[in-house]
Amino acid sequence: MIQLSHYYRYSRILIVFSFAIMTTSCDRSNFEKKTCAVQKDSLVTATVQTEPVLAQSNEDAADDPAIWYNRENPAKSLVIGTNKKGGINVYDLSGKELYYYPVGLVNNIDLRYDFPLSDGRKIDIVAATNRSDNSIEIHRIDPLTGALINVAARKIISKVGEVYGIALYHSAKSGKYFVFVGGKMGETEQYELFASENNTVDAILVRSFNFASQSEGMVADDELGFLYIAEEDCCIWKIDAEPNKSFNPVKLAQSDSTNTKLSYDLEGLAIYYTKNKKGYLIASSQGNYSYAIFEREKDNQYLGSFSIATGIIDGVEETDGLDVTNLNLGPQFKQGLFVVQDGYNYEGDSLKNQNFKLIPWEQIASLFKPALSIDTEYQPNTRKGRK
Ligand code: CA
Ligand code: CA
Ligand code: CA
Ligand code: CA
Ligand code: CA
Repeated sequence: MIQLSHYYRYSRILIVFSFAIMTTSCDRSNFEKKTCAVQKDSLVTATVQTEPVLAQSNEDAADDPAIWYNRENPAKSLVIGTNKKGGINVYDLSGKELYYYPVGLVNNIDLRYDFPLSDGRKIDIVAATNRSDNSIEIHRIDPLTGALINVAARKIISKVGEVYGIALYHSAKSGKYFVFVGGKMGETEQYELFASENNTVDAILVRSFNFASQSEGMVADDELGFLYIAEEDCCIWKIDAEPNKSFNPVKLAQSDSTNTKLSYDLEGLAIYYTKNKKGYLIASSQGNYSYAIFEREKDNQYLGSFSIATGIIDGVEETDGLDVTNLNLGPQFKQGLFVVQDGYNYEGDSLKNQNFKLIPWEQIASLFKPALSIDTEYQPNTRKGRK
């Protein structure tokens, strides 16, 4: 359960600021607004924010982040974020933009480690949905520079109407890599990725299935073999991620309108891994600017929700995509990192282009009673390889 007293530990200034932001952002009409209700019982604050994305002013542009863990030098880990008006950004942990790749209308993004190329080398791969040509972008991360290098064997064009959500899946059962691609109408494809000639990566469609309506946020649990999908106006679904399994979606309890803490759209999903096959599934509840936490194991019990208030950095509203890591990323994020897209990026009273906000995991963990786990060591087998 949420520790209510934690809220009162924050200064009155912070609370006043957060109300100011709520009022201001709710008055704005140039974005689609659902509701201005904000979860106020559990608040954390961002300690770092990225540079704003390139866009026309006030455009809904930033969308989905992915955290890349640098095994050689954790403090040099990266946040890779999409700008759905133009391309992919790479940021360092201070929020500085290192690279911008204007590859098209890239909506969602995900990454995995140690994909084996045809020459036996292993690369960390980034996959993203590109709405400019309905394709799946596949890049590798240069571990020394953080640069992205396109490694797709060809233009991989999806058959869904409009590519939207994406999730990579590295199966603990088979060792194979897959990419799930969601279409805006709920159509979903599963491709197997394979090493092709000249150290490129190709994909072959292995399964297709449908959800009833618009679905975007998705994340795979590599170890337990599940895919979670957020059907925006409904709920979170859990399916078996192995391609030979039948499509038999299970609705997560309290991920629908039975839970008064959730407000549609349900958007980004991410998994916090701990040892013993435990951890958390985190979902963006976009309509009330909050995040819901479910257990990772068994039937995914709902644990509670929290919001990101204004502190030194502005609070977070209307999050689309998010990501989390349990790993120690060096001095700034020793106990893990949670990253979210911010729909209304304020600098004082001035609304800037959208960006991503970074929150130390321990702030979130300590909101709950008992506290959520902090496990900075554990990496699923599917993420090991080089060291
Ligand atoms: Ca948005
Ligand atoms: Ca994502
Ligand atoms: Ca959406
Ligand atoms: Ca904000
Ligand atoms: Ca959205």
